[in-house]
Amino acid sequence: MSDKVNFGDTLVSPEEKTRRVGAVFSSVARRYDLMNDLMSGGMHRLWKDRFVNRVKPRTGEAILDMAGGTGDVAFRMARRGAQVTVADINADMLAVGEQRADARGLDLTWKVENAEALTFADASFDAYTIVFGIRNVTDIPAALKEAHRVLKRGGRFYCMEFSSSDWPGFAKLYDNWADKLIPRIGKAVADDEESYRYLVESIRRFPRPNAFKAMVAQAGFVRANAEPMLGGLVTIHSGWKI
Ligand code: SAM
Repeated sequence: MSDKVNFGDTLVSPEEKTRRVGAVFSSVARRYDLMNDLMSGGMHRLWKDRFVNRVKPRTGEAILDMAGGTGDVAFRMARRGAQVTVADINADMLAVGEQRADARGLDLTWKVENAEALTFADASFDAYTIVFGIRNVTDIPAALKEAHRVLKRGGRFYCMEFSSSDWPGFAKLYDNWADKLIPRIGKAVADDEESYRYLVESIRRFPRPNAFKAMVAQAGFVRANAEPMLGGLVTIHSGWKI
């Protein structure tokens, strides 16, 4: 990897980025779910429903929900009968998730893991999902390679991530919302303007859908696909291991 990487709009060492991302999510963990509703006007629930419909979890299959945080996507897949492992680098996010799972009577496996260097054996999972997580990972190609390694042959890779919209009017509207309002909501609700500024910057820095699709293919997945949703604000990426 190069010497410096982006933490939002600031250049830092790779180790410093991983540390700062950890601090952001430890800081937002307790307010994370409320903030998701406020920032997206509740839309994240629909995006996640749509995403899980694409994954089509089957009863009994093993799914790794990487960067699974507080479990939102994992819960939807567990309700469809999949055996879900929620993995995340941040123990604070997972702790909130475990409490939420208990309250819902859901049985999942929770594990602290860095997406770049997983401890799971080769060919462990039928599907790998990562939602709003990969843009926070310091070495994205390493994480994609690991996703490919831990999937069985025929395994599905699914990723949902924000993407900068190309729709002329919508892009400007979104930029105003993101730059001005999200950090303010972060300050008002979570008393944490900086973390939410990072989230906005990290969305803008994430590769365009076609560039990310090429990275998915580069990691060895076939039929790499990028499906834009809501004017391109969010994209579902997929690929298949053969
Ligand atoms: N997937 C959840 C959702 O959609 O609600 C959580 C998304 S949250 C925006 C991003 C998550 O990525 C955080 O929980 C963070 O700890 C995790 N993360 C960041 N870098 C990671 C890494 N290198 N390995 C694993 N998880 C990571």
